[in-house]
Amino acid sequence: MKQTTIKKAIRCSGIGLHSGKVVRLTLRPAPEDTGIVFHITTDNGTHRLTPKPDDVIATGLATTLGLNGSSVATVEHLLAAIRGMQIDNIQIDIEGNEIPIMDGSAGSFVLLLKDVGIVKQSKAREVYRIKKPVKFERDGKWIKAKPHNGLRIDYTIEFDHPAIGRQTMELEITPEAFASTVSKARTFGFLREVEYLHSNGLALGGSLDNAIVLDEYNVLNEDGLRYEDEFVRHKILDFIGDMALLDAPLQGHFQVHCSGHALNNGFLRTVHEHKSIYLEKVTLTEAAVPTHEHEEAPAGTPVAA
Ligand SMILES: [Zn+2]
Repeated sequence: MKQTTIKKAIRCSGIGLHSGKVVRLTLRPAPEDTGIVFHITTDNGTHRLTPKPDDVIATGLATTLGLNGSSVATVEHLLAAIRGMQIDNIQIDIEGNEIPIMDGSAGSFVLLLKDVGIVKQSKAREVYRIKKPVKFERDGKWIKAKPHNGLRIDYTIEFDHPAIGRQTMELEITPEAFASTVSKARTFGFLREVEYLHSNGLALGGSLDNAIVLDEYNVLNEDGLRYEDEFVRHKILDFIGDMALLDAPLQGHFQVHCSGHALNNGFLRTVHEHKSIYLEKVTLTEAAVPTHEHEEAPAGTPVAA
């Protein structure tokens, strides 16, 4: 299996979730072994950032990366689209400090990437594969990971809300499955939080155009949901984006229970910090196609959270 990049540069613009202003972004092809690299241009010049798990400086409203005083917010849906579509090498140029929120999903990014075209490069793809079962737990929320040739996510959410409740989805993430099943699922928030944020000058770009908003009982968006279980689908999307901060794609079978950006990042930092125990770098040969076995999970090794 070869590394990939995009055929040529593509531009896109949209509203920034934080600022409420139009932000621009350009995606460019990148040479083999580049991985995902951000070029962030502000009044202070251009900074290059190759994201690592430790570069996450905030997970409140969305995932924010920071390095040496420059930062970029709302990266998770674009990163999910890049990893979901199995693009290894790409340069992301941003003017300002955030990625446009678009419609709150990764659907527009997937369309852009498909439109411009994804091309194979000559070097083989390298991935990090979970080497040893691991469980990461905090406040009753957990992520269990075990070795798997591919990326399989088995996600459960439980919200004490009549429109959400308990939702479960298990999915082998291929570009086709990503594009058709999770890429269009939107982020969601609660009206009381949105009102609080707006009154504090935060999430100025957040609206019913780029999120599912719920009051105490109902979905407030006029057109309702895109899928009955849009919430768990979006959580899978976020998980893929949050796992995109290693210098190669992550493979494994992940069972995720009620996680969010903070726990996702805590998990990734831990396996990255103890890389020699939990991860192995694997070069994918053409014959290495994902398997679909359903074996029982071996007992996880608890890791301090
Ligand atoms: Zn999200």
